[in-house]
Amino acid sequence: GLDLTQFEVGDLIGEGAFGQVYVASHKRSKRVKVALKCMVKSQQDRYLDVDGHSTPVLAEVAMMLRLMKAPRCPNIIRLHNWLEIEDNFVLILEYAESCQTLLQYIKDTADIEENQARQLMRQLIRAIMFCTERGVFHGDIHTANILVTLPRLELKLIDFGCAQPITQKPFNKSDYRGAGHGMPPEALRCRVFHANPAYVWTIGIMLYEIMHGRLAFNNRQSIMFGAIQIHPRLSTACVDLISQCLIRNPAKRLQLHQVEEHCWFNPTTPNPV
Ligand code: ADP
Ligand code: MG
Ligand code: MG
Repeated sequence: GLDLTQFEVGDLIGEGAFGQVYVASHKRSKRVKVALKCMVKSQQDRYLDVDGHSTPVLAEVAMMLRLMKAPRCPNIIRLHNWLEIEDNFVLILEYAESCQTLLQYIKDTADIEENQARQLMRQLIRAIMFCTERGVFHGDIHTANILVTLPRLELKLIDFGCAQPITQKPFNKSDYRGAGHGMPPEALRCRVFHANPAYVWTIGIMLYEIMHGRLAFNNRQSIMFGAIQIHPRLSTACVDLISQCLIRNPAKRLQLHQVEEHCWFNPTTPNPV
């Protein structure tokens, strides 16, 4: 069986709302580094049924397992295994070597160029499309839950702690467990929302933040009513993509399958007038 004594635990590499993350190496296969995400069990933990398991597993694990069946997506962090030790959960994750969070990358890099942003956004969209194909709504996409490797700018989506299975039914506002600033306006206004338009909203929010170094909206009031201040240095295509993803009416917002086809991702096609 698997237990923690098989790992040599190293430095604390991250801390989120619910856990500590340590880098560790597997003693027998010396060089294989992993990230151990350690969480204390709580009353609020959600559990889901998974094929091949007699009892429900932690929802974060269940949602990641859907994404781990081959073929996998290189832009989603890999879950190797997990352990329950007394009052703790430990997720054994792929360690993203020489990475930083997108949050840190944005802080450290003044005026990120559109070419870099495009490279990051392509990978984020690939991760999001993959999640929708496997019926997973991440529910907490923000810059601390995205890792970027340097200098190659490979992107890895992490932290499925707020993830939900996508079904025919819309989500309720209360299903949204992620950071409040990522909540789509329809969740605030109508109290129900669908995964795909919510993902497109997130894409707009992320592109805005990469290009401006700050959030598009700071609070619920501005998510619902605030004007978006777009920097004049942005290309027409980039402005158009951000604006179309951040249309408040989800029926009028760009659709997920249209995002990748937007002219910003294909700089040879003419810009919209
Ligand atoms: P929480 O659910 O508590 O927010 P996260 O899964 O987001 O925990 O992890 C917290 C932080 O740990 C991340 O923001 C990141 O800095 C770091 N981290 C998490 N997983 C990895 C990993 N696989 N490789 C490298 N760093 C990671
Ligand atoms: Mg997190
Ligand atoms: Mg989390």
